[in-house]
Amino acid sequence: MSAQIPSHSSPTLPTYDDVITAAWRIADVAHRTPVFTSRTADERTGARLFFKAENLQRSGAFKFRGAYNAIARLTEDARRRGVVTFSSGNHAQAIAYAGRLQNVPAVIIMPKDAPAMKMAATQGYGGEVVLYDRYTEDREEICRRLSAERGLTLIPPYDHEDVIAGQGTAVKELIEEVGPLDMLLVCVGGGGLLAGSALSAQALSPACRIYGVEPEAGNDAQQSFRSGSIVRIPVPVTIADGAQTTYIGQKTFPIIRALVSDMVTVSDDMLVDTMRFFAERMKIVVEPTGCLAAAAALHGVVACQGKRVGIIISGGNVDPKAFAGFLAGTAIRASAS
Ligand SMILES: *Cc1c(COP(=O)(O)O)cnc(C)c1O
Repeated sequence: MSAQIPSHSSPTLPTYDDVITAAWRIADVAHRTPVFTSRTADERTGARLFFKAENLQRSGAFKFRGAYNAIARLTEDARRRGVVTFSSGNHAQAIAYAGRLQNVPAVIIMPKDAPAMKMAATQGYGGEVVLYDRYTEDREEICRRLSAERGLTLIPPYDHEDVIAGQGTAVKELIEEVGPLDMLLVCVGGGGLLAGSALSAQALSPACRIYGVEPEAGNDAQQSFRSGSIVRIPVPVTIADGAQTTYIGQKTFPIIRALVSDMVTVSDDMLVDTMRFFAERMKIVVEPTGCLAAAAALHGVVACQGKRVGIIISGGNVDPKAFAGFLAGTAIRASAS
């Protein structure tokens, strides 16, 4: 593939060189996660699948890579004042944990009605949680006010060059370990993981075709990819809570447009089936969003017969009761939060 990222689109887009320096920065702290294979999965798909297990990353998701890299890049002065973010999911925990490891205070802005488990996890990692009412208050406004008052640096969950570069280190490790790939499947929320992964895949395995995978109910990235401009959608109703973003990033989009072959979608039923497959056959706990890429291969959404296919398992943070419900097939309904 000879696709080039248009250099005029933004002077601050990360490159594979940034992924290399990110890999060096996180080398002693992030886990080099294992790559699993499964004969059952290979038989079911007729392919050779390589699963990169970021559910076993520190704080339970790949987000630790980008968060740690972004914090490591701050000036001494900015580190002393601290960082802020407004995600309530895996990015919040990653920022809290990466901040603590680097002695940088981290403020996480969360809705008052966020799951207690997520709040506790974020506080457990040393984050200062600031609550807001998501029906009457604007989190970005609160974030701006806190930044102004306390001089905090905002680290957003995906639309940031150091975050994208950090996320790209997972696929760098994968290809360095297993060799060139014919295909790579990566889940998409705001596109930080996909953009970073694409930078690594293009550099290390140029013939590899890269696919983004989204929940069927929230295919904003697919719409954006096909139309050529960023499409915004209402909060999608899906069990893939890590991919409930309503639009793709301004920095992730040009990279994805230039390097990715296509965007596909999978249903919540396919995610549940895949979660069960991981538990029963591979003995690992994967959260619904973490099943997106694998579901596309296991359910034939992307044809991969005869191919060497890289699959990112993006995270494993799922409430044990919800997980048991998914496995048992008892009704666990998706919500728009
Ligand atoms: C954040 C997250 C995603 C989506 O990542 P983006 O960089 O926003 O596309 C996917 N899976 C898990 C487990 C996540 O935490």
